[in-house]
Amino acid sequence: MILPGVSFADADASIEDAEFVLLGIPFDRTASFRPGARYAPNAIREASYNFETCLFEHGVDLRDIRVHDAGNLEEFATVDDMVLSAGMEIGSIVSAGRFPIIMGGEHSVTIPAVRSFEDIGVISIDAHLDFRDQYLGQRCSHACVTRRVADHLGLENVAVLGVRSISPEEMEIEGPFVIDAFSILDEGIESAVKRAMEHIGKERIYLTLDIDGIDPAFAPATGTPEPFGLSAMDVKRCIDLLGTRLVGFDVVEVSPGYDSGNTAILAARLIREVMAVVWKNERRRP
Ligand code: MN
Ligand code: MN
Repeated sequence: MILPGVSFADADASIEDAEFVLLGIPFDRTASFRPGARYAPNAIREASYNFETCLFEHGVDLRDIRVHDAGNLEEFATVDDMVLSAGMEIGSIVSAGRFPIIMGGEHSVTIPAVRSFEDIGVISIDAHLDFRDQYLGQRCSHACVTRRVADHLGLENVAVLGVRSISPEEMEIEGPFVIDAFSILDEGIESAVKRAMEHIGKERIYLTLDIDGIDPAFAPATGTPEPFGLSAMDVKRCIDLLGTRLVGFDVVEVSPGYDSGNTAILAARLIREVMAVVWKNERRRP
């Protein structure tokens, strides 16, 4: 069941006409430190009205892009129920050839999103590795997302950028390709994204943005904030560099109660960045 509500700004296309489909998954039941990501989809929608429709640096007016806001999925009692139901919704968006943009909710919503694709790579921006095999008895916990994504696509097709927190158990096993936040500061985001794409080797990329990958100075409203993160501009550059290769996007772990709106505004702006960049590149294709 999909619940109606206020729509994302300029998302006035029907599902049949849409190039992009937004879906909110207000699920945060495996949150371990401080919950509240369930409030993010609607907070991000409200924040989306903050902006002009033009992104002048791309030469794009978002009113020209056909976007449908499918609303929010209902609440789920368990993460496994969420994964099953979200998988059906997202699968139908992807199989119809539309570009899914998922608003979490916690990071576990990425699991059904990525399972809707085959033969892609995933770049995850995250302070955390999320590579535990299970966490508090849950295999689809927010702390296990990278692991489940690797199960589906192969470890070699996953890269995590901006990491600065790894658990002892994650240190002991072979993990995904990582470029930590300290290395990105040294080498620059352009070099890091280029190396991640070379490592993955798949043409098509799904980008998952755990908002805690960004420094708490820019994005304080999140469940497990971690200092020394990427800048908001780094993430904008990352989206621009991925460009034509993006096939899907999510932004997760925004927990709007912990700031005065800045984090939801940033999430809304980065969603608009993805729409503008992907649409512009589609238009330029011969
Ligand atoms: Mn994280
Ligand atoms: Mn995460």
